[in-house]
Amino acid sequence: MQIEQKGVKGCYINESIIFLQNQNNSIKRMKKIIGLYFVILLVLSSCASVPLTGRKQVLLVSDQEVLSSSLTQYNDYIKSATKSTDKAKTEMVTRVGKKIAAATEVYLKANGMEDEIKEFAWEFNLIKDPQVNAFCMPGGKIVVYEGLLPLVASDDELAVVIGHEVAHAVAKHSNERMSQQLMAQYGAAILGQALSNKSAVVQQVGSTVYGLGAQYGVMLPFSRKHESEADYMGLVFMTMAGYNPDVAVNFWKKMSAGKNGSTPEFMSTHPSDATRISDIEKYLPEVKKYENK
Ligand SMILES: [Zn+2]
Repeated sequence: MQIEQKGVKGCYINESIIFLQNQNNSIKRMKKIIGLYFVILLVLSSCASVPLTGRKQVLLVSDQEVLSSSLTQYNDYIKSATKSTDKAKTEMVTRVGKKIAAATEVYLKANGMEDEIKEFAWEFNLIKDPQVNAFCMPGGKIVVYEGLLPLVASDDELAVVIGHEVAHAVAKHSNERMSQQLMAQYGAAILGQALSNKSAVVQQVGSTVYGLGAQYGVMLPFSRKHESEADYMGLVFMTMAGYNPDVAVNFWKKMSAGKNGSTPEFMSTHPSDATRISDIEKYLPEVKKYENK
């Protein structure tokens, strides 16, 4: 499959080295060399692979740290939100979510990757909110807004959205984004684990990444690479769960045509609608290999 991998070489080691090389020239040479040494050591020890795509990523934050920073925000959000009173639709979200989560777990277990989600505790919520949106917090906390459902004609179409969100969580895109932000903000200090209060820093970076503090449900958009990867993995997960991935093309066209003002997480502007739809068409033959497996 063709997930954009340009520039990804050996777990961002090159990126990290360039980052350090670009640091202010006034930093003494020796400090630079020591910093570089720590970077290489830490990046090597933090190197992970994304399930299904095998893409190398750097995760500097442990699952426990990511969860403790995101769960507080998730719980606050759930407390402040109003759950839908539409029983049938709530059941639809739970039904599709649980099926996709179960199929994902079976696949990861069969491939010796069950540790990837051992900290997960899946939750599926339908929230009374007219926005066309859905999101997933780390650890498998999925939120769908009522406003999305009039645009969803079947369980298969809902599976396109939930599969995409489950994929962001399984691929640990939030952790990767936090790690990139930590590197950008703290450079060699965080990489060398030299910060005196790392958990406070993680907390702070986490709240920027999830963006749930000021305006609930609005997360920082993922990168194009993460979006494409979530599209691909989401299609595979929904297919493994027995849903029909062919509906994805029309569903995206329908969503694209009905787009208004705000952009839902799963319809991020990266990539553009046309690119996304043509990419999905390209993924489908590969995705279908996972049918009934
Ligand atoms: Zn997304």
